[in-house]
Amino acid sequence: MSGQSAAKLRKQSGVPPPTERILSWGRYPKIAHQRVHKPAWNDQVPEIFNAAAPGALLPYGLGRSYGDSCLNAGRELIDCRRLNRILDFDASTGMIRCESGVSLSDIIDVFLPKGWFLPVTPGTRFVTVGGAIANDVHGKNHHCAGTFGAHVRQIGLHRSNDGLVICSSRENPDMLGATIGGLGLTGVIAWADIQLKRVSGPWIDAESIPFQSLSAFLDLSRESNDRFEYTVAWLDCFAGKNPRGIFFRGNHSPSHGAEFHPKRGPKLPFALPAWMLNRYSVKAFNTVYYKIHAASKGVAVVPYDSFFYPLDSIRQWNLLYGRQGFLQYQCVIPDTNLGAFEELLDRIARSGMGSFLGVLKQFGSAPAAGMLSFPRPGLTIALDFAMRGERTLKLLQSLDEIVQQSGGALYPAKDARMSPALFEASFPHWRSFVPYIDPKMSSSFWRRVTGAQ
Ligand SMILES: Cc1cc2nc3c(=O)[nH]c(=O)nc-3n(C[C@H](O)[C@H](O)[C@H](O)COP(=O)(O)OP(=O)(O)OC[C@H]3O[C@@H](n4cnc5c(N)ncnc54)[C@H](O)[C@@H]3O)c2cc1C
Repeated sequence: MSGQSAAKLRKQSGVPPPTERILSWGRYPKIAHQRVHKPAWNDQVPEIFNAAAPGALLPYGLGRSYGDSCLNAGRELIDCRRLNRILDFDASTGMIRCESGVSLSDIIDVFLPKGWFLPVTPGTRFVTVGGAIANDVHGKNHHCAGTFGAHVRQIGLHRSNDGLVICSSRENPDMLGATIGGLGLTGVIAWADIQLKRVSGPWIDAESIPFQSLSAFLDLSRESNDRFEYTVAWLDCFAGKNPRGIFFRGNHSPSHGAEFHPKRGPKLPFALPAWMLNRYSVKAFNTVYYKIHAASKGVAVVPYDSFFYPLDSIRQWNLLYGRQGFLQYQCVIPDTNLGAFEELLDRIARSGMGSFLGVLKQFGSAPAAGMLSFPRPGLTIALDFAMRGERTLKLLQSLDEIVQQSGGALYPAKDARMSPALFEASFPHWRSFVPYIDPKMSSSFWRRVTGAQ
């Protein structure tokens, strides 16, 4: 029986869709199976709403969130990946209208050859437009471009009670602000209008500069903000309060032609055994990485994909952390509290549990595009921790204390375990978001941090 006729039969007989084991990118938590709806057309979404119980549903994109914000344990997901059509494009302004399951990768493939690029991109191109809006993702240009949501001009939002609601700065602006960074809880985004950005081609004038302390990082960051569109640093988290790292900065390069053929990288075939990743192997990797980049410091013209998406070159790299999966910890700490940031780094270094991917960035002061947007002025760090049970959870709880006391926040897109108290401290206005939640929507994350049913 073909997939299509099975789906048709199911619809005729009222049988719910099958359950599937869907994990987020961190492969933790290993939650129960979820029923997965897979609409191919936007006009199928209202039928899914009609048949669902209150709080039953959550949209799902490419599952690149690390924790449980894209999961709905024991309930239902609406997999939006087949809603993947580009509906309109104005070549004179760069405004694109696309369905929410279109990936950022698709947009780059179609529009970069025409001289248009994403206004903001996270560190992977394999996220959907719906996911990028619902987490209001940020990129290396936060200091000058804000978040993805700041470039969304209009959306069509499926709501269970109101049908398709158009949201823009003129029509239903509050619902737009709630949906940007709204964790998929305000409804299913059907389509979005996004303002792309004109670029000269697929190359980046990039520079890498080694640094050996947090204050050196901050000097580089301040000095670069006016001259470079993109800034970010890699940090050796074994180095403690005075971390060493590599500062990367870049601009779109005007000097190269448009000819460019991206390479496909290798794929990790299965989860590696946990023993392969230990403090010695990771420390050795960090040292080698630092030495290689410190030796090749300087200016180079590099392809955009190696600059923006180095991790995408190894497909399924998340299997590197073994069968138990991993947690990513991303927090922001106000610039005014550098002592707290140093303390955080010190605790991570002393634990010996951090891993190679320490990413450091100074957020700019752009106003938040969404009610629950994560970025705010301060220093943000994102670090992976292999899941080693209680030991890992205890360390992360001790980092939470620092974040909370310093007036910082944790990023829901990366989280699988923050306490309700830390969520409250990170998003003190979350209660004013509640009236915008669609009554048919819920998520594992939301129930965990707010106690909602
Ligand atoms: C290697 C890597 C690097 C990353 N780098 C960054 C970074 O630099 N900056 C950053 O901000 N994030 C980063 N992320 C996180 C990632 O960008 C976000 O988690 C993003 O939201 C994932 O999109 P997705 O399509 O996979 O959505 P999912 O993870 O499937 O879902 C994310 C949220 O979007 C909602 N959603 C999905 N589709 C819709 C829809 N159609 N309508 C309404 N809601 C919807 C879901 O309900 C969920 O709440 C990174 C992730 C990885 C794996």
